[in-house]
Amino acid sequence: MEDIKRGVEDLQKKLERVEDSNVKEVLNGILSLLGSIDTILDEFSDQISVIDEDLSELESSYQTDEGFVSVKCVHCGEEFFVAASDYRDGSEVVCPNCGEINIIRL
Ligand SMILES: [Zn+2]
Repeated sequence: MEDIKRGVEDLQKKLERVEDSNVKEVLNGILSLLGSIDTILDEFSDQISVIDEDLSELESSYQTDEGFVSVKCVHCGEEFFVAASDYRDGSEVVCPNCGEINIIRL
């Protein structure tokens, strides 16, 4: 996001040298929109951080729950949890990431 802020500031300085008022008006509008987009991206970034923390907490709570077993997908490498009752030799579990079936081998 800092790159966008710096880029907008840089363009605003260059815009001061533009003499055509119509062009200046349009470019000012575009820079203003870029500033708004940057603000929205900052907000999204903050929200994603919060969601990421929530997911980490959720993941830790599953890892400590003895009712689930961690499985690594043989197709995409994603680690996910299956209920211990489904964790039997030969049982098929669907990877939540790629949708492929993994067959449990104990
Ligand atoms: Zn997968």
